[in-house]
Parts: sequence; structure tokens; C-alpha cells
Amino acid sequence: MVPQTPRESRFHTLIAELHTLPDADSVEQWPTDQLARLQRAGAYRWNIPVQYGGDGLSPESMLQRYRELARASLLITFVLSQRNAACQRIETSPNTAAAAAWLPKLAAGELFATVGISHLTTSRQYLKVPAVTVTEAGDDYILNGTIPWATGAAYADLLVTGGTLSDGRQILAAIPIHRTGVSVKPPVSLMGLSASCTSEVQLQDVHISGADLLHGPVERVMTAGSGMGGAGSLSTSAIALGTAQGTLDRFAEEAALRPELLPFLNPLQREAEELAQQLETAAAGGNPKETMSSETLRRRANSLVMRSAQAWLASTRGAGYLAGHPAERAVRESLFFLVWSCPQPVLEGNLRELACGTG
Ligand SMILES: Cc1cc2nc3c(=O)[nH]c(=O)nc-3n(C[C@H](O)[C@H](O)[C@H](O)COP(=O)(O)OP(=O)(O)OC[C@H]3O[C@@H](n4cnc5c(N)ncnc54)[C@H](O)[C@@H]3O)c2cc1C
Repeated sequence: MVPQTPRESRFHTLIAELHTLPDADSVEQWPTDQLARLQRAGAYRWNIPVQYGGDGLSPESMLQRYRELARASLLITFVLSQRNAACQRIETSPNTAAAAAWLPKLAAGELFATVGISHLTTSRQYLKVPAVTVTEAGDDYILNGTIPWATGAAYADLLVTGGTLSDGRQILAAIPIHRTGVSVKPPVSLMGLSASCTSEVQLQDVHISGADLLHGPVERVMTAGSGMGGAGSLSTSAIALGTAQGTLDRFAEEAALRPELLPFLNPLQREAEELAQQLETAAAGGNPKETMSSETLRRRANSLVMRSAQAWLASTRGAGYLAGHPAERAVRESLFFLVWSCPQPVLEGNLRELACGTG
């Protein structure tokens, strides 16, 4: 057996701990305990560059961690991914002073950050007036409007968000959550993942200086420094796939008692392995002819996570339909992937599959 580094051994301890702790399921249950364990395992350092006190893990390693983490706890992995998306926008900013100010504290877990950027990519795109408007005030900017989604905003110190100027250019900024004019609305009760404490954030005349500015003003600011964290990115597929694998692990426990289920479990397991392989190839930037596009990967991971949960539910029969049964919960949570961070082609592929039986 290959000996583990202390870092790997902390990761495996974390995974084992998360497997034993049930995910909370209500807006009153922000997962403080699990997040503390994440911090103890060094998870807040994984994605931060070494120069800022992080581990600087490669994108491939990050994707593998997301997948393994989601296999144990979708809730924690999702919350971590939103925090990491905020870190990424800071890290890729030309404003190196902002990176030097925020990233060491984020790596140490002294601060928690989240992101409210969907209104610049996948949410409210049909509105005539942007969800968040930006006006110039000398060298500074003033933000007004509503950020429709920000996970864990009530528990965050820092919010990475942005808005649109009247000429269509956009900015992204890192805003301390207690800045005048920022108000976090109460977390909304959701079909699943309510404990992610996701809420709207209202911005009223919020002042942004050059020190806060991360990207822009530029058209389509979300394509600036998007790397692996944008809407429908490989990270989102890794989380969907890990969640599917967690569901299949539990389905396998049922099948161990009832071998007649194996013909239904086995193809789903094979599909998960194939997708994991494809994800690895895509992360390593493999030959484009042999590599699935990130959209195809996400569409297929969405399909797999939903079918796995429904197959498990069907196998548990009426018992699994009772509120609180893990299969019932898996079905609810799998549907999250239909609506979270889905670019239009992914959404259309999933809708086609639902309408016509094939993506
Ligand atoms: C649990 C959860 C947590 C999330 N956390 C975050 C986060 O932390 N940060 C973040 O940035 N994002 C987050 N998101 C946002 C996510 O990535 C997607 O952007 C979001 O789910 C898209 O849904 P929407 O309702 O905002 O879409 P919209 O497209 O804005 O649709 C909203 C409504 O408008 C209607 N509509 C849609 N298109 C049209 C049209 N063309 N004309 C008229 N009406 C239309 C729809 O029927 C729907 O009722 C989160 C989402 C969820 C579900």
C-alpha cells in the first residue's frame, strides 16, 4: 500500500467523518460542525495558491476532491464550491492587492466568502433592466438591485458579486457583507439543500472603490478569469457525478440484500465509472476528439444523478417514498442539478431527454 501524506490522510479522515454525519435539511441548520471539520482538514487551503498560504492543488486534484466529497455530502461540497468560486474570482483578478488582502485570511478559515454571480450568467437573463445596475461615480461605482442567489450569505464575511453598467459592460467586486447598503434576506426553504442557507441579497447604493474591484468594467465579465469555475464548469459536473456515486453506494447496500436489483445497479455504476474517466480526461485537457465537452459532461452527469436516485427510490418501493427516507431525499437533491449553474445548452439537453427520452 502507498503511504499517505499527512494531507491525504486528513482528507480521508474528513470523508469518513462526513459519511457518518447526516446532512442537515432545513434553513435553521447551517452546517457549522461539518464546516469546522472541513477547516480542520485543511479544505479551505486546497484551492488557494501557495503564495497566499494555500495548497495550490491542481484543477485535476480539485475535481477529484469535489467528487469524493460530494459522494459523502452534497450539502458541504456545494457550500464549499460557492466559497471556492468567490476565491477564484479574487485569485484571477488583476487587483493583486485584493488577492493579498483576502486570500490568506480565506485560506486560514478566518473569513468565509460566497458568490452571487448567477444574474450575470444563468439567472434573470431575460430581464430588460439588469438585476444589478452599476453607475460610475468618478473612479468608483455604485451598485443597486437584487442578487437572486447567494449561498450561505447570512454566514459570509465577503461577497463576490457584480452588475451591469448602462453601456452593457460589467464589473465584479469583493464586498464585505456588512458594508452599508447590503442586506441579506432570510434564507429560502428549498426542495433540497435548504441548509445551504441560500438567500437573495439586496444592494442599495453600495459603494465600490478601486480596492474592491476584481474584474472589469468589461463586456461579459464572467468570461474573465473563469477557468474551471464558471456556469456549467467541470466542477459542477464533478459534484453531480460524486452525488450520483454516493446514491449508487447506498443503492448497492440495498442490492447486496436483494441480488435481483443488480441488473439495474450495474449499468448505472458502469456509467458513473465511464463519466469519472471522461471527467479526468477533460480536466487534464486531453485530445479534444476523445474528450467530452464540459456541456456534454454536465448534461450526462445531471442525467445520471437523477436516474440513479429514481432507480434507488423505485427499488425501495413505498418505504423510500416516506418523508425522511434517504432515497426520497436523494431524489429531491438530484433535481437541484437541473436548475443549478446550468448553461442553456445543458438545460436544453436535459429538457430534450425529459421530453423525448434522449439528450
Ligand atoms: C439552491 C441554489 C443555490 C444557488 N446558489 C447560488 C450561489 O451561491 N451563487 C450564485 O451565483 N448562484 C446560485 N444559484 C443560482 C443558479 O446557479 C442558477 O442561476 C439559478 O438556479 C437559475 O434559476 P433562476 O430561477 O434564477 O432562473 P431564471 O432564468 O431567472 O428564471 C426565473 C423565472 O423566470 C421565468 N423565465 C425564465 N426565462 C424566461 C423568459 N425568457 N421570459 C420570461 N420569463 C422567464 C422562469 O419561468 C422562472 O419562473 C443557486 C441556485 C440554487 C437552486
